[in-house]
Amino acid sequence: MLAAGETVSAARKAVALALKRAGIADFTFEARILIEDLASDGDPIGEAAVVRLNDALARRLAGEPLWRVLGAREFWGLSFALTPATLEPRPDSETLIEAALGHLASRRHDKLRVLDLGTGTGCLLIATLREFPLASGLGIDLSPGAVATATGNAARNGVGERAVFRQGDWTDGIAERFDLILSNPPYIGSSEIAGLDPNVREHDPLLALDGGPDGLDAYRALAAALPRHLEPGGLAILEIGAGQEEAVMALMAEAGLCHLASRRDLGGHIRALVFQHNP
Ligand code: GLN
Repeated sequence: MLAAGETVSAARKAVALALKRAGIADFTFEARILIEDLASDGDPIGEAAVVRLNDALARRLAGEPLWRVLGAREFWGLSFALTPATLEPRPDSETLIEAALGHLASRRHDKLRVLDLGTGTGCLLIATLREFPLASGLGIDLSPGAVATATGNAARNGVGERAVFRQGDWTDGIAERFDLILSNPPYIGSSEIAGLDPNVREHDPLLALDGGPDGLDAYRALAAALPRHLEPGGLAILEIGAGQEEAVMALMAEAGLCHLASRRDLGGHIRALVFQHNP
């Protein structure tokens, strides 16, 4: 435990050492983030910062992921509050935003209508609205806690007036058509959940992960809904898990959607599939 009156640099070293002893791989990086976030308002660090830091360190050492401890994670250069009801936004999902920018470059200043299904923190919709300044959108999640978190995140990132979030089961009760539909749905096969990294398994909500027996339940629901909710020529950009490309492409083809592109994440895995509705 740290005491008030330590210098920032001594505290950073002490935190790094504690993390290292606990077997945390990125101990130097995590110590820097913890200090920057919680104890950068004075050097030597003051009483309140020490209390914050000790509390955070204890939670981290007890196994809570870093960004959960800090209560927020960055996505697309924006900060998103996390709650137990929301998945942590992951850098891989930024591939969907890149795809939207690539495929809608000529419509950057149109009043696009955007739908985000399974919105979680709202990161996909909110990042998209930041990039398309006249667009507006709707984010839907089965979890009321996620809806509350996403609503707060839209305000926090300056798009509160262009984003509405609603509790719902996919598109039940919605009649509107959209220019762009985004989704990073739950896509882990139920039997694979037990083998996930504990950081994910124990801290991300099961509802956001579990894609049913073969991991594809959400894509079946999406395939049924997308043709009814896309404008003619509208795009759907879907995140997929490892190895799901062909199965998801087949489901969307059966639903009458046309595959436009597949996009790889920074790790080289196909992460985002782009479909067009050409009725
Ligand atoms: N859309 C959110 C995200 O990309 C939540 C996804 C989810 O809960 N499966 O982080």
